[in-house]
Formats: sequence, C-alpha cells, structure tokens
Amino acid sequence: MLTISPCYDITVRDLQRLRKEGHCVYRSSHAGNWSLYKLLLSEAGLPDCIWDATCIHRDVNNQPRCQIIAGRKIPLLGEDAPISKVDSKKYLTAYHWTKPGEETLARFHLAPLQKMYGDLITSQSRELMKFKSNLQKVFEIVEKHEPRLLGRYILPCGCMVNMVSQQGALVAECAHSGARLDHKDLAESAIGTLAEMERLFFDPKGYVPKGGAFYTFELVVACYYLWAYWRFGGRAVYELSGPDMLGYATKQDFVKKIENVLLLLRKHLPDLVPHRVDAKIVPATAFRFGYPEGNDQAKAVMIAHDKILRIQGVKREHLEVRRKELLECAPELQSLQCVINDKVDDIHRACDRVLSPLLATIKCFGRSWDLFHNPSRDAFFSQHDLAQSGKKMEILEGYLDVPFSILSRIMECHKSRIDKLTRAIIPERQLVDRGLGVLPHSR
Ligand SMILES: [Zn+2]
Repeated sequence: MLTISPCYDITVRDLQRLRKEGHCVYRSSHAGNWSLYKLLLSEAGLPDCIWDATCIHRDVNNQPRCQIIAGRKIPLLGEDAPISKVDSKKYLTAYHWTKPGEETLARFHLAPLQKMYGDLITSQSRELMKFKSNLQKVFEIVEKHEPRLLGRYILPCGCMVNMVSQQGALVAECAHSGARLDHKDLAESAIGTLAEMERLFFDPKGYVPKGGAFYTFELVVACYYLWAYWRFGGRAVYELSGPDMLGYATKQDFVKKIENVLLLLRKHLPDLVPHRVDAKIVPATAFRFGYPEGNDQAKAVMIAHDKILRIQGVKREHLEVRRKELLECAPELQSLQCVINDKVDDIHRACDRVLSPLLATIKCFGRSWDLFHNPSRDAFFSQHDLAQSGKKMEILEGYLDVPFSILSRIMECHKSRIDKLTRAIIPERQLVDRGLGVLPHSR
C-alpha cells in the first residue's frame, strides 16, 4: 500500500505546478541555519514543513546552536546550557532557550524565515494540530495496539529519551530530570507534547514546557502521510529531501516499517487511512538557481555557472553530431575515440578562455559568498543574512525548467572546473601580479 520512490527528473516549475494542482509538495527541513538552496526553494514558493524533533548535535547540517551571519558563527546558548559538549544524546531545538522564557532556538531560526516567507514556513506539529481529532484517534489506536510507537519522551529540560517499563508505569530519565507516565495516559500525553511543540516553535514567550510522550520516527513518517491524505486527498505526495532522507527513505526495510504502521491504522480507522500512499522523494540539495540580490560576488559565480551550462550544451550537441556523422559514413573507423577527444580538447580550451576572467573576478571577492560549502562546518550565507539585508533571493528563471538531476550535475561540473582552472589557468602568482591577492586556502 506504500511506495516511496526517488524522483530525479522533475523541475522546480513542475513542482510549482503540482502544488497548484493540489498535490502535497513540501520540503522537510530542520530548525536551524538555512543555506542558499533552502532559501532558493522558499523564494520559488515551495513550502517547508519543519520536523519538530530537530536535535542540536545530530542535525549538524543546520548548525542550530549558533547564528550564522556575516560569515561568522555566534553562539546562541548560554554558558549554563546543559549541552556544552557534543555527545550522542538528543537535545531538541524547541526546548533550548536563547533567552530564557522568551525565545527558543527553534523560534530564533524560524522567525526571520516566517517574516520573509510567511505561511510557506510551517512545522509538523502545527500541521498535525489542525487535524487534532483525527490525530487523537490515531494515537489512541497506537496506545492500545502498538504503544512502542509512542515510546519516546521529551523532558522539560529538552532531552528526548526512550521510555522504559518499570513497575507497571513508563519511566523517562535523563541526566537532569525524570518523569513517570501511566500507560493509559500515553495518547493524551503525546497530543499534549505536539501542542507544546507548536507553541515552542511559534510563540514560546512566557510558556513553561512540561514535556511528555512523543511519537517515534516510524509514526512521525506515517503521520506525515496521513496528514497529506487528510489535507490533500489521495494524490501522490512530493517530498523535497535533504541528503539523508533519500538514503534511508527508499530502502525496502524502511518502507516496510512505515507500511506496517499504516496497515495497523487502516485496520482500525479505515476512514482516516488511504488504501494507497504514493510518495516521491525529490533530491533537492546540490543546486543553485539564484543568488542573494545585490551580492556582486554571487552574481559573478552565477554568470560563470550559466556559461558553463551553455558551453556544456554546445559541447554535448557537437559531440553527438560528430559521433553520428562518423558512424554513418565509417562505422568501422578505429580512430573514432581519438577524433572525439581532439574535439573535446578544443572545446575545453575555449571554455577555459571564457571562464578564466570570470573566475578571477570570483576569487578576488574572497570566500564571503561561496557556491560550495560544507553546511556542517562552514559559515555560509543564511536566512539571518538575507533578513538583515532586507533583500530577496534573485532567481534565474531559465533554471526552473532544468531537472534536479541535471542541476546537480552542473554543480559538480562547475566545481571540478573551478578546481581545475584555479590550479591550471590562474596560478597564484598571476593573481598576485594582477593585484587580486592570494587564494585564501593557500594560507
Ligand atoms: Zn535533560
């Protein structure tokens, strides 16, 4: 009843159209610093449903415990935060305060996004609470038949742990606090936790967290598909994913686990569970189809990017023609590969001539805006930069019609080309002679 398949050959324009036609089209993101590609998708009008259970250390690609702004990382948690050193425990962004009693980490990162993109930014708790009575029925069935699916607990200090059974009750413990829960209160507690989560994401001021039972990952995913059905009907669900999701979500074991949850629920709640869920995962990370408005360096990078795209197009076309011609008139020709290689070299030389001045421009800006960054480590351009600039993301319309699979290939090609050219065409000496300084990575 459940299929989850990757969907590479789809464009941003397709997704915009599918959304208009009433499909569920969402990115699932985390509460943290958002890099360029997420900002571009929001700018293109694609909504984001943030996963509530964002963990401060584990969801490292968003570096939630600091604010990334102006190429710097500013720590957001006080010295006394119970998570001063990195460990494997799950500390939730919604429960850690940047200003005690006023603002949570989740709220801090969400506020500028909501200001810029309004209702395109939402969260699982917010969406599920719109269907509270349905969700109550789901959680009650789970409490009765498969309580382990509600087996996590969030303590008020912000630690998420697995509960254990002890003397007829469920017990949750972390290094800072503990709680006991009667089995019969499981569903009610889990509904309360989601309501609390929404509050901590969107309006935490003055709220004192109580914590409570929390649904496990399998149920989180199953509930997302149920919500999609309640809200959009039985159409295919499009999920724009980060690098992790495509890896696990299409594996047969994972699909089977989620399917079992849906089957259990369908048995008891046939009206609330569709007989079929068709989910399509769109890998949406390695691409750029725009840049922050008014940023000259970013613009220069995108111009180079665009030229490579065109040159590659011409190259491919040219090679195809040559190949056909040769095969038609002399299929036995042994030197085919060599003729093609000559052509490739010619084209590469032409390509380098066009790109080298552009690359020199890019390099002279330094690394304040970088096309390629490691989101778990680097200080990239974030929503905090964008909000502060009062500007928006500039989108190059033509790219919206290029499938994600090709967008990511362009990105790879661009990277290897820049690496090659910076080594071969613009040696450091030459940059220094032209007064463009030394490449930062050589320091
Ligand atoms: Zn704790």
